[in-house]
Amino acid sequence: MNEALLKLDKVSAFYGNLKAVDEVDLAIRPGELMCVIGPNGAGKTSLLKAISRTLTTVSGTVTFLGQPTNRASAQQLVSKGLIHVPEGRQVFAMMSVEENLRVGGYARRDQDLGSDLETVFNLFPRLRERRSQMAISLSGGEQQMLAIGRALMGRPKVLMLDEPSMGLAPVIIKEIYKEIRRLKETGITILLVEQNAKLALDVADHALIISAGRTRFAGPAEVVRRDRSAQSLIFGH
Ligand code: ATP
Repeated sequence: MNEALLKLDKVSAFYGNLKAVDEVDLAIRPGELMCVIGPNGAGKTSLLKAISRTLTTVSGTVTFLGQPTNRASAQQLVSKGLIHVPEGRQVFAMMSVEENLRVGGYARRDQDLGSDLETVFNLFPRLRERRSQMAISLSGGEQQMLAIGRALMGRPKVLMLDEPSMGLAPVIIKEIYKEIRRLKETGITILLVEQNAKLALDVADHALIISAGRTRFAGPAEVVRRDRSAQSLIFGH
């Protein structure tokens, strides 16, 4: 079996005295899609921040590409291909679609971004149509596509998506998830945080269910799709 690209051993994350993530373990192998699901305030976002080192009050060990990351900066991890699309999208509002995408490639040594732009435009044809438009003029769904496209420009080895469905209409969510499925088919390794468990479980190979920072379930998504007790944990019925 392939080595894990990303591995967590007893990772905790803190805000002062509050332990938002409590000794979480996980391992993602190349090409896998793992979803992290759980109720509001469960610690999902904090877990992604602890991995990308945008939060550094963390204990335990995160290993990326076989190396512990505890001394790396968030920026160094991006250059190595650990790329985080944060909650709420955060595109550069006053830059064009193409400029936003080019920024996503800036951490790469080679500056030949043309073929990557093509790849992103092929995945998200709407971005091609709007390549000169300011990001602020895009719809919420298009901004989410742009945020994902920008991350792809950095050639992620592991792509972390935080609630890509947030604040979007059901028809747009469906579209975004179709693209996530396509990304998975291209072989990209994905760690996906979602509050909408059904959506995430449908596309995931593995699931991590957390609540109050602790792991409640870790295993094949298939098991959660079938198992009523796991479902009652997530859906509360
Ligand atoms: P949601 O789905 O609502 O985004 P979540 O599962 O992503 O929730 P987190 O945002 O990681 O959960 O929050 C976990 C806990 O940490 C919560 O109790 C939250 O109030 C707390 N928390 C999050 N960010 C901060 C912060 N910057 N300062 C203090 N506490 C925080």
